[in-house]
Amino acid sequence: MQSAEGRGTILEDSCTAHVELKNITKYYRYPFGDVIALKSVSFDVHAGEFIAIIGPKGSGKSTLINIIGCMETPTSGFLRILDTDLISIDEKELDKFRLENISLISPLLRLNPQKSLRQILQDRLIFKYPSSCSQEKILFSLTKAGVPQSYWEIPTEELTEEMKLRGSIARALVTDPTILILDEPLKKIDTSSMLEVLVLLKVLNNQGITIIIATEDPIIARRANRQLWLHEGSLMEDKRVKTDGRFVSDDSTFHRNGLIRTQGFDTIRYSGRSTLNPE
Ligand code: ADP
Ligand code: MG
Repeated sequence: MQSAEGRGTILEDSCTAHVELKNITKYYRYPFGDVIALKSVSFDVHAGEFIAIIGPKGSGKSTLINIIGCMETPTSGFLRILDTDLISIDEKELDKFRLENISLISPLLRLNPQKSLRQILQDRLIFKYPSSCSQEKILFSLTKAGVPQSYWEIPTEELTEEMKLRGSIARALVTDPTILILDEPLKKIDTSSMLEVLVLLKVLNNQGITIIIATEDPIIARRANRQLWLHEGSLMEDKRVKTDGRFVSDDSTFHRNGLIRTQGFDTIRYSGRSTLNPE
């Protein structure tokens, strides 16, 4: 799947997608009726992409992230990641697949506050490789994520929010994921730290890791190569950033999701409603 030039190259037409979602729908059942979190969402993710899933609170970002991260199953639809059909796979195989290929950073997966980062990374590595746990790999991941050595051995409850996030990134990296998925990871840190962590994510992406990040913040989304805009569970727009910094919309995603472009990509029509481009 990777090109000779480097793992960061985006491969679109020449090979199958890393992630394929078709008509993914998710309902949550409540006593008063169903809540629809995702409505027939379809898109592909290719090797080396850096994608922002952007939308207001309640638009379905976390649900989508958790489905791609194999933490939740959709009510209906088709999901294939790295050529594996994840709808028909059994629970045990799914756990193995996730451990081998995907790392998720989510508010649902907090660091154990009493353990040190070194212990946390060790636990995760032993989980993946029960017979061999490389200390070198642990130190390499902590260094790569930008955690200074003085923070490696202290309980994570004593760390700043930025260091907790960098620790979560180190934990995610230690299993060598192909795809790194983050659910609003930068919410709790200040702007300058946020920009530094975004630089780190860009470096990881340039080294070949496919990144998918959910955010409400357009400043964060602008760092991605592609923005997927969600509104009330529907994929409203798929914008790619060209090398000259301009956006180009993906017609195939528009067609698959029943979207109609009316004036370039400034105005789109969905379900009979006209919606202004959120940019
Ligand atoms: P976002 O991350 O964009 O804020 P979510 O995916 O968390 O959006 O939520 C989308 C919709 O699904 C919301 O109406 C939310 O209340 C509902 N929802 C999300 N997760 C659950 C859940 N575990 N149980 C019930 N309803 C949920
Ligand atoms: Mg959310």
